[in-house]
Amino acid sequence: MTTAAKTKRLERMDDLVSLCARRGFVFPSSEIYGGINGFWDYGPLGAELKQNLKALWWQRVVRERPDVEGIDSAIIAHPRTWEASGHVEHFSDPMVDCRACKKRFRADQLEGVEPCSAREGTSEHDFTDPRNFNLMLQTQIGASEEAASVAYLRAETCQPIFNDFKRVREAARQKIPFGIAQIGKAFRNEINPRNFTFRSREFEQAELEFFCHPSEREKWFEHWQGERLAFHRELGFGDDRLRTRPHAEDELAHYARAAVDVEYLFPFGWQEIEGVHDRGDWDLSRHGEYSGKDLGITDPETKEHYVPMVIETSVGVDRTCLALLVDAYTEEELEGGETRLVMRFPRGLAPIQVAVTPLSKKLAEPAHALEAELRRRFNVFYDDAGNIGRRYRRQDEAGTPFCVTIDFDSAEDGRATVRERDSMAQERLPLEGIAAYLSEQLEAPA
Ligand code: ATP
Repeated sequence: MTTAAKTKRLERMDDLVSLCARRGFVFPSSEIYGGINGFWDYGPLGAELKQNLKALWWQRVVRERPDVEGIDSAIIAHPRTWEASGHVEHFSDPMVDCRACKKRFRADQLEGVEPCSAREGTSEHDFTDPRNFNLMLQTQIGASEEAASVAYLRAETCQPIFNDFKRVREAARQKIPFGIAQIGKAFRNEINPRNFTFRSREFEQAELEFFCHPSEREKWFEHWQGERLAFHRELGFGDDRLRTRPHAEDELAHYARAAVDVEYLFPFGWQEIEGVHDRGDWDLSRHGEYSGKDLGITDPETKEHYVPMVIETSVGVDRTCLALLVDAYTEEELEGGETRLVMRFPRGLAPIQVAVTPLSKKLAEPAHALEAELRRRFNVFYDDAGNIGRRYRRQDEAGTPFCVTIDFDSAEDGRATVRERDSMAQERLPLEGIAAYLSEQLEAPA
């Protein structure tokens, strides 16, 4: 058996970017037209990875909890929504333009920007004064241009949750404390999209708004911090790459009482992947005011009428996918000097769970029969092209936890070889027990 002599984790983002394009995890959107800055497409492997991540979040945050309901709202909300939420007035970043090269930058992120290419005798930019730039993407609704009204693509998925609060609480017959969650696209016209998918203009968020009595806000803020950290640990992020960072007083959004970022150590430094926020009663009070509807609650026992407090957990699906890709990336130097690139995803999140790899095309019949059986439970890839060692390497790069190889003895002894991704260990198992074996292995923590 081959074993790894030395392992190396990801150091340069470029290595990951090129693997992601080559293997079809993620690549620039509209690539044939030269791409479009801040927009990315997920290919077959990336779409599966992202789907598995969202399913795990939904499972932990919605399905396992009697006190959380899931929704799926429209991307475009009534424009008053964004006035009430403060986005029309406040959702902006300071930007500066270089008068020489015409490039635009965030005024608070000028450290390390590329030098000016247009000035003579200096590579320093000739910046304008900072101006505020609203990050919401606008569109028009209505058939004719004159009659059309401006609308916004949602800048965060939580505002429609507040709009729907009363309806969902009544329909689901929930009592305070309870939460409403959704996963979906959000759009921000970021001034400088960068670091691969980390800062994009179109991205997905998975958000929970948890509504509680004012006397319990600290308790729930603590509770959700703990839950969310446990989730990131379940993704395999070790303590050396995961930390929480409370916001300083001057960093807090104008409505927030407390906020904690969950940060992951990317090759470009510690960066936020999730925020846990105590938003107080800001959102429900504002939407109550702007809509003229009473979004308060009357306690059935004490008859106290109050506006619930909101604890929010807001995770970027794409940023977490990026952290999963960074975390999984491992280069191993094998005995004999060969290098193997292996994506060590947690087994349950891997895009493909099992590859069926018959030793020869002549074994197609039993191999396809096994494939058909396994497809009922797993995402399966069938590969009979090229030598078996090369096929294993291709699955290592895709992060596939198991390969099952049917060989010429299989018809005689009713067994096939199961090869595990990380240890590269191989064992021969009875064909009829393979599906059950894989189920057990894929559910166990990696
Ligand atoms: P940042 O300071 O990095 O711009 P933020 O504090 O504005 O992020 P939030 O508004 O709290 O972010 O959004 C919650 C989550 O949504 C973030 O933790 C992040 O994972 C994700 N997110 C926000 N902006 C982007 C973006 N431009 N691209 C990808 N994900 C994003």
